[in-house]
Amino acid sequence: MFNEDFLHYIWSNKLFTTSELKTLQNEKITIIKSGQHNTDAGPDFFNAQLKIGETLWAGNVEIHLRSSDWVKHKHQLDRAYDNVILHVVYQNDQPVFDKNKRLIPTIELKALIDEKLIVNYENLINSKSTNWIPCGQQIKSVDKFIISTWLDRLAIERLERKSNEILTTLKFNATNFEETFYLYLFKYFGLNVNALPFELLAKNTSLRIIEKHNSLSSIEALLYGQAGFLEENYTDEYYQKLKKEYQFLKVKFKLKPIDRSLWKLLRLRPSNFPTIRISQLANLMSTNSRLFAKIIEAKTIKEVQKYLITHASIYWNNHYHFGDELIKSTTKNLGLTTINNIIINVVVPFTFVYGKVKNDELMIEKSLEMLSNMNAESNSIVEKWEEIGIKANNAMQTQSLIELKKNYCFQKKCLTCSIGNNILRQ
Ligand code: SF4
Repeated sequence: MFNEDFLHYIWSNKLFTTSELKTLQNEKITIIKSGQHNTDAGPDFFNAQLKIGETLWAGNVEIHLRSSDWVKHKHQLDRAYDNVILHVVYQNDQPVFDKNKRLIPTIELKALIDEKLIVNYENLINSKSTNWIPCGQQIKSVDKFIISTWLDRLAIERLERKSNEILTTLKFNATNFEETFYLYLFKYFGLNVNALPFELLAKNTSLRIIEKHNSLSSIEALLYGQAGFLEENYTDEYYQKLKKEYQFLKVKFKLKPIDRSLWKLLRLRPSNFPTIRISQLANLMSTNSRLFAKIIEAKTIKEVQKYLITHASIYWNNHYHFGDELIKSTTKNLGLTTINNIIINVVVPFTFVYGKVKNDELMIEKSLEMLSNMNAESNSIVEKWEEIGIKANNAMQTQSLIELKKNYCFQKKCLTCSIGNNILRQ
């Protein structure tokens, strides 16, 4: 059996026989407007417009699988339901009255919905759990144009969602783009595993303080100290130098380090260890003041990439942790894949937000152009889409596919997905 969401979908798209439509009270009914879907408390659709008999009505519509659900949900005691002009039910199992003991005009959909639509819906929603996505079997039958148009919309939806998060932080930071960008950049450097401590590190070490220092060693001292990494007693010169400098800066700026135990190394490649990432960030900060301002002025992706090129200090050529010297020595550069991921996940959303805040259409276009000009990302979600026949051509499409999987397929929101809509109506 389906749920009420399916009936909401049927009602809002008028996917039932509407010719000769009559209420159970045998009055002719014409749907002028289905109304606005309400996902909060109260009736399911607001401001519907109907003609029942010879009377035009404007008001709310309530939808239930069975008419008895009205009483079960105690709507007869709730004033929010006083303005319901129509009760839409799949099955009428008992008459329903309003507070004035008047029968509420009702239509029963059971005989009016095409059986094939119900079968298609049930196949989609009850697909085997072994399918990576509910429509894994059916998606091949969907027209390529429908998929690519839907992916274009999802790219914008993803950017809008990210930009709302950024806007909230930006507001908190008095619309300071540099400080907010710095915060997100740090967070991204932490990947999923260390996003939280990197975010806390940036919040605890304001960009204003970092910008007062030009030398790499001072910025490293600040960041390692604030990260809680300079509380041991390693004897090597580099460590001692950083520790001494941090002790001075800590007093000068009244700083407080974050809890060292927040950092995680489990399931991380050594090149992603926070020790390495912090040095790369310090290097980036020491060579680029006002990094965001430079990035938004950049004309090409290559130019943006150039601003993000960085490497860890020489000490880290043969270390992954303070004090533990390795025999093999390698430069710890920030790889091009990571740089591109930073562009996709931080630079593009920020450019998009900047365009919106400044009312700058060209900047918004530039952010979208960056995405469509970058190569498709490679990750497990993108690979799975490819396995079921959906190949992304660029980063804009990979971002859309990630959005689709995480915010639609995973939550079985097939009724609000264009692909799902097409499959249901085949
Ligand atoms: S949300 Fe769309 S793409 Fe995802 S499983 Fe449902 S119909 Fe398929």
